[in-house]
Amino acid sequence: SKPIVAIVGRPNVGKSTLFNFIAKKRVSIVEDLPGVTRDRIYMDAEWLGREFTMIDTGGIEIETTDRILAATRHQAQLAIEEADVIIFVVDGKTGITTADEEVAAMLRSTRKPVVLAVNKIDSPKDEPAVYEFYNLGLGDPIAISATNALSIGDLLDRVIELL
Ligand code: GDP
Ligand code: MG
Repeated sequence: SKPIVAIVGRPNVGKSTLFNFIAKKRVSIVEDLPGVTRDRIYMDAEWLGREFTMIDTGGIEIETTDRILAATRHQAQLAIEEADVIIFVVDGKTGITTADEEVAAMLRSTRKPVVLAVNKIDSPKDEPAVYEFYNLGLGDPIAISATNALSIGDLLDRVIELL
């Protein structure tokens, strides 16, 4: 079967926007897998000839702080177990939060490769916000904008290098 790329991160960082953007670029999609509910959660994708299954881990999100922490932790744990490569999405507009730090700690303790994507870097003026995320200890962050379609190709280049 194909390698699995999981998108993890706390709610509202833009995981589904990123996932759906990749889904819409017909470059990427091969087919959808069964088991998809209201939100599309799994897709088979391909980038530069490398095939993989991508998972959006944030299909179910509950809007209270404790539960966000618990749900984010749980989803990240599942992704760590299942994934071959993890895309950890954070929000460049809000900066690092407690939930980000929790997920980062989990990801640092796995040997699975992690790509840290700082989303919502919509224009060059947002770029200084990226540097803070070096503090998560997950290597060089990559700045992206899922809504403005910026640097998604660079992100996928890095992902397939790690497959
Ligand atoms: P998820 O909970 O992590 O799946 O996040 P969503 O994909 O549902 O996005 C949460 C909110 O962030 C939505 O209002 C999106 O429109 C917004 N968003 C997502 N990506 C970007 C981005 O690149 N820039 C900006 N400014 N907003 C974004
Ligand atoms: Mg989502």
